[in-house]
Amino acid sequence: MHIEPKGSEDEEPAPADLHAELREFRPAGRGYWRDVSDSDWNDWHWQLKHRITTVEQLQRLMPGLSPEEYAGAAFANHKLALAITPYFFNLIDPSDELCPIRRQVIPRVEETHFAPWEMTDPCGEDAHSPVPGLVHRYPDRVLFLVTDRCAAYCRYCTRSRLVSNATGYDFHPQFEQQIQYVRDHPAIRDVLLSGGDPLLFSDEKLEHLLRALRAIPHVEFLRIGTRIPVFLPQRITPQLCERLKQFHPLFISIHSNHPRELTTEVRAALERLADAGIPLGNQSVLLRHVNDDPAVMKIHVQKLLRCRVKPYYIYQCDLIAGSAHLRTSVREGLAIMEKLRGHTSGYAVPQYVIDAPGGGGKVPINPDYVLSRNADRVVIRNYEGKVFEYPEAPDGTPLATRPPAIREPEWV
Ligand SMILES: *Cc1c(COP(=O)(O)O)cnc(C)c1O
Ligand code: SF4
Repeated sequence: MHIEPKGSEDEEPAPADLHAELREFRPAGRGYWRDVSDSDWNDWHWQLKHRITTVEQLQRLMPGLSPEEYAGAAFANHKLALAITPYFFNLIDPSDELCPIRRQVIPRVEETHFAPWEMTDPCGEDAHSPVPGLVHRYPDRVLFLVTDRCAAYCRYCTRSRLVSNATGYDFHPQFEQQIQYVRDHPAIRDVLLSGGDPLLFSDEKLEHLLRALRAIPHVEFLRIGTRIPVFLPQRITPQLCERLKQFHPLFISIHSNHPRELTTEVRAALERLADAGIPLGNQSVLLRHVNDDPAVMKIHVQKLLRCRVKPYYIYQCDLIAGSAHLRTSVREGLAIMEKLRGHTSGYAVPQYVIDAPGGGGKVPINPDYVLSRNADRVVIRNYEGKVFEYPEAPDGTPLATRPPAIREPEWV
């Protein structure tokens, strides 16, 4: 697997030891930025200003950059910009080309390889967009895109076409139009702010937007999708939390893929959000050599619960152009789900989904626990593979409500 033993090749540590490292919360620390003052390091604006954005900076900090990474980073600004916060950069293992953190944010030349079934808008969002920046695919909720910027860029981003504006998509959200659309459609009870990353906005701008949405009587539920707590935990200031808590019910979905992303800094940021009364969920993308391992995924979901985050979705990686090197098979995804359900707390088990290519929305994908089902019984199996039967009446009513004479199932 991708957790490379640090010592010589023949003395592989026992798997239990590797896992102990992943279970622990560790600080990302200062790493390359030892000489920076605390106040700068903990200032999110400083972190943004000092992001690694060029192949030259990357090579200076990581002399071991592979030719594939060098070529990918040199090309990145034509596709999806390169940007990594100093904080997040410190999580990369420079001696391990298969480091799960590294593969998420350092471009590779494979990003320039496009397969015929790959797309620039794999979820068909542009086709479901009634006004710029709004995606209305489900009856009662909308995706409200607020910006094309993120603190760092994920190489598999499903919105690569617009985030970072490397390909000239020229994303211009029209807040007035977007908000007016929500006002005009009483069926919309749930607004999901995403992007790009909404938490890159200033506190004032974010508050202004949330206030406008909260003022719409039929909007019951607000949520924010953000990777900032993971890429830039310094952004989660007490002041931000104070502002956010005015807009309850407000949920936040974070995006974390690997247990090593859950550092002490991230845990503290998530605790601040949770203490502000914000229920937290996590969305992971299943990625090759990152989290395509049931043992790693189990540690990840358990560690999320320890940060008061409920694992919400695991996404099959979308068919975004140039992502083949990061995708896994659905079979592997199912094998991971099989190893979670029943084996750990139900709260830790996310729903595995495929966002149907072309715009069908999220479709749940589950291991087959129903072995057969006919008019009078359902045959199921549990997480251990043990088989059980549950009786049903031929007309679909629960057996207990029927006269005793008919209640006796024929197959007993
Ligand atoms: C994911 C998504 C939502 C939210 O879906 P939930 O299953 O309710 O979390 C809404 N709109 C779009 C376009 C989405 O992609
Ligand atoms: S944080 Fe989200 S929107 Fe931004 S690059 Fe990553 S996946 Fe895309």
